[in-house]
Amino acid sequence: MFSREGVTWRPRRERPRHDPGPGGDRGGGGRGAPTERRQRGPGQEAHVTPRRGPGSNARPATRPASLQRPGGGRGPAQEPARLAATEPDADRRGYAVWVSEIMLQQTQVATVIDYYNRWMQKWPTLQALAQASLEEVNELWAGLGYYSRGKRLQEAARKVVSELGGHMPRTAEALQKLLPGVGRYTAGAIASISYGQATGVVDGNVIRVLCRLRCIGADSSSPAVIDRLWDMANALVDRSRPGDFNQALMELGATVCVPKAPLCGECPVKQHCRARCRVEKELALASQKLFGKPAPVPDVEDCVGDCPLCPPATEPWDSSLGVTNFPRKAAKKQPRAMRTATCVLERRGCRGGPEYLIVQRPSSGLLAGLWEFPSLPLAQDLQEEKEREVLADHLQAWMGQPVAAKGLQFIGEVIHVFSHIHQTYVVYSLPLDGDVTLDPASPSRWVTEEEFHASAVSTAMKKVLKAHEKQHRKETSPGKGSKRKRGAKPQGAGSTCPGTQLSLHAFLRAPTAP
Ligand code: SF4
Repeated sequence: MFSREGVTWRPRRERPRHDPGPGGDRGGGGRGAPTERRQRGPGQEAHVTPRRGPGSNARPATRPASLQRPGGGRGPAQEPARLAATEPDADRRGYAVWVSEIMLQQTQVATVIDYYNRWMQKWPTLQALAQASLEEVNELWAGLGYYSRGKRLQEAARKVVSELGGHMPRTAEALQKLLPGVGRYTAGAIASISYGQATGVVDGNVIRVLCRLRCIGADSSSPAVIDRLWDMANALVDRSRPGDFNQALMELGATVCVPKAPLCGECPVKQHCRARCRVEKELALASQKLFGKPAPVPDVEDCVGDCPLCPPATEPWDSSLGVTNFPRKAAKKQPRAMRTATCVLERRGCRGGPEYLIVQRPSSGLLAGLWEFPSLPLAQDLQEEKEREVLADHLQAWMGQPVAAKGLQFIGEVIHVFSHIHQTYVVYSLPLDGDVTLDPASPSRWVTEEEFHASAVSTAMKKVLKAHEKQHRKETSPGKGSKRKRGAKPQGAGSTCPGTQLSLHAFLRAPTAP
């Protein structure tokens, strides 16, 4: 295991919602968007303790209260970046921090821990990762979301091994320039934590802290604000302990300067905080008004118009929000709606249990290289009859034999929301009596349920299988053996499977004859 046998590493915090970098998941040139992080529980102390970075002479860092075990028990710190920072091999050190940072983008800490540990056990070095197949990477990444992150991590590892002599670039600029999937934030984090480069980082927590410290009220995702925040982060970073400083700043946002109800009274930088200062001024003004005193002359900075960092005139300060007036975000773009027909093709396996046909997605685009039930994107407002026909044609292409559209049994609709797509899977099933000879050249295979879950399949496909199993159980349980009709009222609160919601499309569509 990487540098320390038997040590389980624990990621310490979440990362920006996206730091895609060149060719990243969503584009955006590495501008991090705010992330809602872990908040402290009641009764926890608000310590923000920097951690040791490479070359630091400071005493060992204390684990912040927010990261202590419930009940105050003492245990070894289990944070990957922290342990990685003490790793003597510089390339391993950078690699470990890199994996941790990529996994934590848009994913909760609790979710990442197991993935991170399994990843580092399987591929403890860049060289080991470079030799892995995309299939193995996808299998380990399955369920973590944003699958292209794992793919690019592996591509980048191969590049380091084949083109850079196995050595990680040592500066933020070189990391961002040379490694696919490494954006400005990730590059800054690796360079400062692993290599002691005095460079700042801007993630969702840092955006919130800096916007409040400096009363930046313009849209926090606008280029003008992001550029200014990077300037501030680079100017503020401690030259002697940049990694510790950056982690402390992020930790401040994660534990004290939280999105809702920040703990200003306990904040170590409250004397420098303009948002807090503004709240105090507002309170003083309100009390002066109460006692009939004349209103004070406004500050010069309050009179300046058209400032690219100030709140827009149409969105004035809201006294009821206090410091949480900052940061401000532009209205979120609605995810694009998509419908996809998918079919669970089932046969009896040699041991009597069911087996399912799964096929591999193309090697680029959404969910690249993952396995799924044969699926086909649908045009909006396609009639059910037509929907069945196109799906039957699609299945025929995989199976090499005709498929009767009438034989497809409608199971229900499963909704899965990707970051930018609101996907509705229209789920059908087709039990097969005889065997089907698959084209060995086509990326398809039969799997048992166990093999299905061990394969590189998306969470959405797991939901589809769950919906199918639920329907199957319903049909085989005594007294409930009726076929599900399209448009029939699904079980529960308008849902066809647990945790899913009936789509508007399905809701509005009139029931059709079987
Ligand atoms: Fe955040 Fe309050 Fe601290 Fe300002 S004083 S940085 S608003 S916690």
